[in-house]
This record gives sequence, C-alpha cells and structure tokens, in this order.
Amino acid sequence: MDGLNKSMYDIGSDSAFAILARSQELQKAGNDVINLGIGQPDFPTPPNVVEAAIKALNEGHHGYTSSNGILELRKAVADDYFKRNKIEVDPQNILITPGGKSIIFYTLLMFGEPNSEIITPDPGFIAYKSMIDYTGAKPISLPHRMENNFSFDAEELLSLVNEKTKLIILNSPANPTGGVVTNSELQKLAQGLLKFPKVFILSDEIYSRILFDNNKHNTLLKYPEIKDRVIILDGWSKTYSMTGWRLGFGIFPNSVFKFAEKLAINSHSCVNSAAQYAGIEALKGSQESVELMINKFQSRRNYLVNELNKITNVECKKPGGAFYVFPKVTKENMMSVEISKYLLEKKFIATVPGSSFGDLGEGFLRISYASSMKNLEKFILCLKDFMNE
Ligand code: PMP
Repeated sequence: MDGLNKSMYDIGSDSAFAILARSQELQKAGNDVINLGIGQPDFPTPPNVVEAAIKALNEGHHGYTSSNGILELRKAVADDYFKRNKIEVDPQNILITPGGKSIIFYTLLMFGEPNSEIITPDPGFIAYKSMIDYTGAKPISLPHRMENNFSFDAEELLSLVNEKTKLIILNSPANPTGGVVTNSELQKLAQGLLKFPKVFILSDEIYSRILFDNNKHNTLLKYPEIKDRVIILDGWSKTYSMTGWRLGFGIFPNSVFKFAEKLAINSHSCVNSAAQYAGIEALKGSQESVELMINKFQSRRNYLVNELNKITNVECKKPGGAFYVFPKVTKENMMSVEISKYLLEKKFIATVPGSSFGDLGEGFLRISYASSMKNLEKFILCLKDFMNE
C-alpha cells in the first residue's frame, strides 16, 4: 500500500493466535477441538484476585493512574521480588504495563535501529524477532539446542557479540521449549559481558514462577557485573492465570527508565486501574492456587514426556519450567508446519509448528499442556495414530 511506513511490512505475526482462530472456526463447525496451541493457563484467575478488582471498581477507581503504575502495586512488585530473589529493587525502576509484551515492544523501540544487531533465542518467542525486524536491526540467532536441554552456551553467545550489538534477549524458563538456563552459564555470560559494557540485556522472566523439581529461579539481576544494564520482563499473565487482564511489568535500570516511561505515556497512558488493584492482591494474597497450578503442570509434564518418548520417531526432553514441551517429531517428507496443520485439520488438535519460533525449531512441535489430562491423553492417542499412518 502506498504511503505506509515501509517497516510495517517487516512486522511478523504470532502463529499461535492464527491457530487459535482456526481452532475456533473448526469448533464452531461442530468439531471437538483440543487446543494445545495457545500459551495460557487453563485455570481461572484466583477468586480473591477477581474480588479485589470488583472492590476497586466499587470504590471508584475508574480514572487514569500514574503512567508507571500505582505506587502500592510497584511496592508490592518490589517486595515480592525481594521475597523470591533476595534482591532489592526500587519501585521507581518498575514500570507497570498492559502485559509483559509491551516491555518487549518498548525495549526494542529503545535499542533497535538499522545497522545494529540484537541477539535473540532460536527457537524463541515469536514477538522478539517480529519487533527486531520492525526496528530495522538485524536479528542474530542464539541457538538453544535440544542436546543442550534447550539452554544456550555462554561462549557461543559471547562469540556473537560485536561492536554492533545493542541488546541480548534471554528467556528462561523459555517459550517454546520450557528450557531453563543454568546459573553457571549465566555467570560466564555476566563475566564475559564485562568486555562489552554498552550491551544491554532484556531478560524475559515471565515464567519465573513456573519451575519444576524444586528448581530456583536465577534472575539476571543477580549478577552485579551487569546489573546496571539488565531489563527484567515479568508479569501476572502466567503465574496468576491473568492473560486477559493485561498486566505485566518491567524493571529498568536508571539510565533508561525515563525512556520506557515516555513510551508508556505516549502509548498506553496507564494500565486499567482495577486490574492494578487485582495485581496487588495477587502478589500479597494466598499463593495456594499458584502452587496447585504448578503441581498440576508438573504431573502433566511428566505424563507427556513419558508418553511422547514411547512413540517411534518422537523424542522429547524433560523441560524444567513453563508449560510447554517441545518434542522432535520426525515424519518422512513432512515439515513441522505440515504436521501441525494435519493434526489440526484431520485430528482436531491444535499445536504450534516449531519452525514458527525460528529456523532451529524446524522438526519440532510446541505442545502447551495448559489443558486437562483427558485432552493430553487424547492427544497422545492421536499422535500415535498419526505416526503409524
Ligand atoms: N514473553 C513470553 C516468553 C511469553 O510466552 C509471553 C506470552 N505468551 C509473553 C512474554 C507476554 O505475556 P503477556 O503480555 O500476556 O504478559
């Protein structure tokens, strides 16, 4: 179209949403569709959190709030951060946003520009590459290989850094693989980055609470060498089943906070006021439902990994966190897009092809197990059938 800013043509999309739309069409046409495509918990928001939003509305919290978020919420985030990580964060460095995704958008607007490079996980969350492309920066793939439990190798990462590198994006626990980065790799990275003092890091920690086998989260803010150039992304969507509330946050170092805040003022203004009050209750109220959800996810993960590895030509690592498995599914002459399409159109099971997360995702499928055990059992039966066809 004439007149449109050319970079609009560079923005990608998220195939999980396209697959969701197609699943809904098939469902409307009378098919019983199992959706293992979309990344949202299959639990309702805890009732105490819903009540807090209703109370806020009844008490008249209907107007704009400060653009960085209400102070009580930012304090609650800082307290929770301290409780979980033993790291002090100043509420002045916290920006409340309509979902964690805005932090990706703002950070890439802040750092991406033509002739610069941004290192991003491959396979990795789709929005990273879409927005890097939009800014005109060059995306540099950081391999997260199956042999390495879908973590990265710090030496390999450091070998990709050069004078053009503006930003490194990291995500642990990861979408789409569930992979968790080890402390030792992060330590090597922090040390290595001393040589590149201008490079910032966006650490997407949206799945930081969804960890299994008693693993503890390693936040990137833990490493003093790089602390003043780490941006943390986190939020309520996954931990508290609040995807539709649109509530997330970023922690920005002093040097760049004001720029993120200006982007917020000029775009979303502030987050829905009642949702912010709900966010306070989520952090300060009972955490029982979070624990229950994580236990459920862990047993579903165990079931899936076990069953998937029994199927010929399917290989699956046991992910340490998030709610995805990322099995390698090998079927003669079929790419992951074709396998995913076949499973949706013929077996009514929605999955996301691994290739939509980057070149290294080819050959894999992302299965979200934010779905009932009954659905997961059906999926295993259908996949077995398909692999035997
Ligand atoms: N980062 C990752 C890795 C994600 O998987 C998601 C959601 N799918 C987000 C960020 C964004 O979450 P939200 O905007 O719902 O908070």
